[in-house]
Parts: sequence; structure tokens; C-alpha cells
Amino acid sequence: MSWVTSLARPEIVQLKSYEHATWEIGLERLHANELPWRAAADESSAGLNRYPEPQPRELIAGLAELYGVPPACLLAGRGSDEMIDILIRVFCRSGQDDVAICPPTFGMYAVSARIQGAGIVSVPLLPERGFALDEPAVLDACGPRVKLVFLCSPNNPTGNVLDENAVLRIASRLQERALLVLDEAYIEFSSRQSFARHLGRFPNLVVLRTLSKAHGLAGARCGALLANAEIVALLRKVIPPYAIPQLTTEAALRQLQPAQLTAMRNKIDVVCSERTRLAQALGDLKGVQRVWDSDANFLLVAFDDATRALRASRDAGLLIRDVRAQPGLGNALRISIGTPEQNSRLIEALR
Ligand SMILES: *Cc1c(COP(=O)(O)O)cnc(C)c1O
Repeated sequence: MSWVTSLARPEIVQLKSYEHATWEIGLERLHANELPWRAAADESSAGLNRYPEPQPRELIAGLAELYGVPPACLLAGRGSDEMIDILIRVFCRSGQDDVAICPPTFGMYAVSARIQGAGIVSVPLLPERGFALDEPAVLDACGPRVKLVFLCSPNNPTGNVLDENAVLRIASRLQERALLVLDEAYIEFSSRQSFARHLGRFPNLVVLRTLSKAHGLAGARCGALLANAEIVALLRKVIPPYAIPQLTTEAALRQLQPAQLTAMRNKIDVVCSERTRLAQALGDLKGVQRVWDSDANFLLVAFDDATRALRASRDAGLLIRDVRAQPGLGNALRISIGTPEQNSRLIEALR
């Protein structure tokens, strides 16, 4: 057993996965208790009367090409949220193991840890250094109970990217001790390259990607986990056999066509130029204390009176996110970049 596998819960290593009905195209299916006819309103290409293909080959191949990894190094599921949950269930024993997180950050790491009964070790980012990683503190915090370290770059809700060398040094120091999970939900909005290119050098590195943000498919629920094939094989034992609905696969495959990817890049350009415009306009407003630099499709903005800003935007029909409860965020709100018209309306409302 390699050291990566030995980090997982022994029950999972020994688990024999559910044997779903075999997937053999070309043969007629009388082995899965499906109805042989489509529902009258079913407009899918494969027919929703059939169970979907587990880890659909064409989808896995398309995502693997998009993210630049071999298909055996990719697991697809219902968004990166499902990947976070499965990682914790596979690697953390309830009441015995911990995950490390660096707040302020995405809330699902802690929620999924609590659901599993895993402990949470918090190592705050450094607000005075633009929410940079506290590298020595992260390493100090990673005792023998910590199995997973969740980092997010660009980070939600602060918008900054983490220092690449610091992340790689942490991955290196965690060899044989823990997995480093890097959540890249917003990387398409930054100028950074994905950490996926380092997977070959770090057997304990896991990268999370999603079609929810830049690809505009949040409602389809499709995300991917990239890691060495041994980790993917372990997680595959735990993901439900029919994790990816047929309609999701069909929507994702359409999105992976070259013309759609070009359209996506054009929209990212609009988001990035609107991000600059909105940041400048908000920075010029009287009640705004600070607009942080962002590499994502949102801005973190501190107000003199955040309650009033929330009310003003709501009166203009616009919801923005209250993140004041998170450590280190004081009077800050998180604003997603909208259409040019929505952004202008928001600026007017806050003025
Ligand atoms: C939105 C978001 C996700 C969730 O992505 P899904 O693929 O929709 O589950 C994951 N991580 C971060 C940091 C996010 O902001």
C-alpha cells in the first residue's frame, strides 16, 4: 500500500464498491429494471429512462483534455462541493482526524468536516498582507491528526491568489503526512496557470475545478477533482454510482465544444474589464473604505456602514453578500460582477 492510500480511512481502503449494472453500449438493457420507453416529454439525447453512465467516458475525456490531465487522474461529480464532501469522508475518521482551513475562506470545507465529525484546525490568512498564507503557521498546525489541508486560490471571499511557491512548499512538507487540496473554482478569471501541472511531482496534491463559475453552468452541477490516479480510484469507491445526471453530462459536453469555449473566454474578458470599472467606481465613493484587488469574478469591499450599503443595493433590486461574520472581514461585503447594466445600477445605488 502506498503512503497516499495509507492516509485514507482503513474501512474505505477495504471497501468493496457497489456493483452497478454493467455499462455495455450495443447490448439491450434488461438488467437494470428500467422502463424500455422514454417519458413523453423526454428530449434528452440518450433517453432519461436509462440510468446514466457512471463516470461517463466522453465527459471524463473532455474534462481531462480541458484541464490537461490523463483521464485516470480525474473524477467528475456534482460540483466541487461533492468533491469536498467525498474527500473528507474518505480521509477523515469521525472524532479522530482533522482538516486544516485558512479563513476567511469558502464555507463548505468546514461544513463538510462537521457533517463527517472531523475536527477543524483554523490558520487564518494574513489580512495585513493582502490575505496571504501564513506559511509557517500552516506547517505548525499540521500535526498527525490533520489529513487534508484546504487552500483556495483565487480565494473566496477575498479574491486574491495565493503565492505559488508557498503552496508548493507546503505540499512538499506535507508529503507522507496529508493531502493538500487546492480549490481553483475561480482560476479562469485570473492570469494564473492551474496547479494541475504539478500533480506529477506531488502525489499528495489535489486540485478542484468546476463548470459552475466561468463556464456559467452552476445549475448543471458539474465539477472535477484532479489528483494522482491512486487517490481518484479511492474516491471512486465512495462517489454514488450514478452521481452525474444524464442532462448534466449533455450540457457539459455541449459546453466543451470549441465555439462554446471561445464564447466563454469572451465573457471572461467582459467580467474582468467590468471588475476593473466597478473597483474604480466603488473606490471613488465616499462611504467605501477599501476595495481589495481581485483575481476572481467578485470584489471584496469594506464600507463605513455595510448595513446601509446592503439596504441600498437591495432597494435597487440587487443582492450582495454579507461576509462580515467571517474572521478578519470586519465591515466587508462581497459583490459578484454582474452585467454592465447591473454594475452601473449598483454603483448608482451605493452613491
Ligand atoms: C462556488 C464555489 C465552489 C462550488 O462549486 P460547485 O462546483 O458549484 O460545487 C467551490 N469552491 C469555491 C471556492 C467556490 O466559491
